[in-house]
Amino acid sequence: MSNIRGRFAPTPSGLMHVGNAWAALLAWLQIRSQDGKFVLRMEDIDGPRCRPELAEQALADLRWLGLDWDEGPDTGGPHAPYTQSERISFYEEAIDKLNKSGLLYPCFCSRAELLAVASAPHGLSSEGPSYAGTCRHLTPEERQARQHSKAPSLRFKIDGGRSVIFEDGILGKQQSTPGAGGDFVVRRADGIISYQLAVVMDDAAMRITDVLRGADLLDSTPRQILLYEALGLPVPRFAHVPLLMGEDGKRLAKRHGDTSLSGLKAAGVKPERIVGWLAYLAGQVERYEPLAANELIRSFDPIRIPKEPITIHDGLMKQLFN
Ligand code: GLU
Repeated sequence: MSNIRGRFAPTPSGLMHVGNAWAALLAWLQIRSQDGKFVLRMEDIDGPRCRPELAEQALADLRWLGLDWDEGPDTGGPHAPYTQSERISFYEEAIDKLNKSGLLYPCFCSRAELLAVASAPHGLSSEGPSYAGTCRHLTPEERQARQHSKAPSLRFKIDGGRSVIFEDGILGKQQSTPGAGGDFVVRRADGIISYQLAVVMDDAAMRITDVLRGADLLDSTPRQILLYEALGLPVPRFAHVPLLMGEDGKRLAKRHGDTSLSGLKAAGVKPERIVGWLAYLAGQVERYEPLAANELIRSFDPIRIPKEPITIHDGLMKQLFN
């Protein structure tokens, strides 16, 4: 019996689209091809943007594609609940632990202040510009004075000279810039726990050994590794799959047509077409043909997944519908 455990962790703030199906299928194949356990987790921590009906729809879309999971919101299981909004107290314990170790500090910067002092963005970042460290150096008196006017966020301190190095299962050796993008927020001023903290706590609690996700999250990985280390938790293996892009060089999205799974279903596109198309893009089959997800398990090889972003030009997009 394999100890391999992976997961798919959608944010139910929009309908699942082919880009999400791409990451889900590849994460699922990586685990199923090694006879591992697959966990589904709803990352609905950013409350106002997430809706329960979208979470329900995501489960239905995944099933429709032929993907299944061993543990998740509708399975019960040893790590239940699998919905982040129901796990807040668990994340707060981690905040307490980091705080007691002196690794957090309150940050009072407004959005405008952040933009004014931020240093240049690093790489293809979903992380935004680096934090200049303004509030890290406040004196206790300054802190006290600002506490009255504004609720602070909490930032995690990073050693500015530290580069995080890790081996990516698809992209090979990765090295962050020194300081890994600067001190980052673990709890926002409005009390919402950050994605970075929640994802680390959950992946550790769910004993995830292999994280496969979109390359948009590549810049988050060094930050997450630093959190694993600070919390004394084992670091999983990471693999980042390239993003699917529109012809305009932007990430595939609504403006490129309705590629939501429910939209495709409504247009009469069969799930096997989507799976076969994604498998073809992932270099898993030589030519495009309809396929069931479980037909791909035995021959799955992550080495064949391209490393560069994949442009879905018009001809490719049409293949999906024909
Ligand atoms: N919830 C994140 C998203 O939907 C993914 C988190 C992850 O895979 O680490 O973008």
